[in-house]
Amino acid sequence: MKEVTFDDYRQHYRYKYVVENIKDVIWEMDENLIFTYISPSCKEMSGYESSEFIGKRMTDFLVPESRNYVLDQWKKNAHSRKSCNSRGIIMYDLQFICKDKGLIWVEVSVKPVFEDDRFLGYIGVTRDVTEKKVHENELKKYYNELETANRELEKLATFDMLTGAYNRRRFEEYVKSAVDMKEMHGSPFSIIIFDIDCFKLINDIYGHSWGDRILQVVTEIVKASIRETDKLFRWGGDEFIILMPGKASKDAYKVAERVRKSIEKNNFGIQHDRITISTGVGEYITDESIDQFVSRVDDALLTAKSIGRNKVELCI
Ligand code: GH3
Ligand code: MG
Repeated sequence: MKEVTFDDYRQHYRYKYVVENIKDVIWEMDENLIFTYISPSCKEMSGYESSEFIGKRMTDFLVPESRNYVLDQWKKNAHSRKSCNSRGIIMYDLQFICKDKGLIWVEVSVKPVFEDDRFLGYIGVTRDVTEKKVHENELKKYYNELETANRELEKLATFDMLTGAYNRRRFEEYVKSAVDMKEMHGSPFSIIIFDIDCFKLINDIYGHSWGDRILQVVTEIVKASIRETDKLFRWGGDEFIILMPGKASKDAYKVAERVRKSIEKNNFGIQHDRITISTGVGEYITDESIDQFVSRVDDALLTAKSIGRNKVELCI
């Protein structure tokens, strides 16, 4: 047997000093998670004396969720413990019940111990990470709130709040990419501008909230009549624009007629009166500005109004 030297003693006391004086709790458990040693700092962390841990199962000190988690892992690893192929350090974040019934979050680092190939139990360190967890949770909450606020902002910047159609600001973005497609690939695009006929009167007769509802239903009808690649924008008041990438004026005209008929036919739940729209349709001409284009199609819409409303007018 090797003789114990003075240096060995020094080393032994050095380890003992470290184990007994650091804030983290150092422990040893048998193969059934029963504490066989625990360092004195457990008192400061949990309120329990070392002697109150010895002979008790680690999971008895955990909240049900953490307990079930550890037991599940322990059962799952039973096989690998026997075959000795799990020798690394495992880390868990667990909720621990202190002597005064207060809860703390602990970070547990566990290392299985083997003698030759025989599994003996575990050694590990438990650290109080409650403060870190509280900060983490606050940060998570703050991050979630920020994400929600960002989503709301994005929605506000994109959609008209009453109808859910895209707002006017988004039109510029989409129309620019349609112009790019035209310039790069010669792909045509058209717009439909429509305005509800005599909407002021509808508001006056049935009230503003009926008017709001009609704007929403008109939006639903139009969305149902166009392709997903076509986009509906609320231009302002009772005026809307449909942007149709890839469509020449002839096809756009057909869509406009279909939309006009669907709205005319729809029962809006108001007595006697129908809801109709007047519509201008036009295809973008290379080199004209967006303002020129919109104004050209808007003129066609005015023509549709002037020739009796509930009409589609194609602009040249
Ligand atoms: P026209 O056939 O010439 O278009 O006649 P009009 O009465 O529809 O005239 P115009 O398009 O100029 O009037 C739009 C009306 O839409 C005026 C305004 O009171 C109403 N309006 C605008 N925005 C809203 C809204 O968000 N809700 C409701 N209920 N009414 C709105
Ligand atoms: Mg109108």
